[in-house]
Amino acid sequence: MKKVVIASNNAGKLREIERILAPLDIQAVPQSHYNVPECEEPHVTFIENCLTKARHASQHTGLPALADDSGICVDALNGAPGVYSARYAGEPKSDQRNNDKLIAALKGEPNRKAHYYCVMVYVRYPDDPQPIIAEGAWHGEIIDTPRGDGGFGYDPYFLVPELGQTGAELPMEQKNAISHRGQALRMLAQRLQAL
Ligand code: IMP
Repeated sequence: MKKVVIASNNAGKLREIERILAPLDIQAVPQSHYNVPECEEPHVTFIENCLTKARHASQHTGLPALADDSGICVDALNGAPGVYSARYAGEPKSDQRNNDKLIAALKGEPNRKAHYYCVMVYVRYPDDPQPIIAEGAWHGEIIDTPRGDGGFGYDPYFLVPELGQTGAELPMEQKNAISHRGQALRMLAQRLQAL
């Protein structure tokens, strides 16, 4: 089985990635297994940070590497919180404070449109001139009152209008079937298969 280092230490994400890669005869190994040091994410776009993380992991291990990056972009805020989604309200990171800050920023704003975005980058070598890029976007609206207790992050405030439910009210399977991350993972599998 071919080994690919995954530039993430999040157990949930690793499991999802493992499940997508196993049928392609690819073994996903977390970067913690190789003691890859933390990587700076200095850029203002998801794709740049993601590429930086993938290159970094490949550089340190000599293996092909896969990185992901995601966040929520709100139309009325020019795409903020964007790449700062995890730490929108500063350190230490807190979903509650992030959500409070978002709702305050949208006070009196009629345009509530937002989308989650996820990008995944696969590099065969650190200087791969042709990285594989997969992405997904999940569209919805920000509501003022939280609903549901599933999911994480901004999910209780992220309403999917056509379902009449928030990300936190959807069963996990249903969320994975339509979410930004689910879309990106499926696109990644297709692209890797075509290699
Ligand atoms: P990361 O890609 O793990 O760094 O995630 C960035 C941040 O975006 C998370 O900490 C959340 O605040 C937000 N985020 C990304 N995907 C989701 C999601 O599916 N639900 C809720 N929040 C999300």
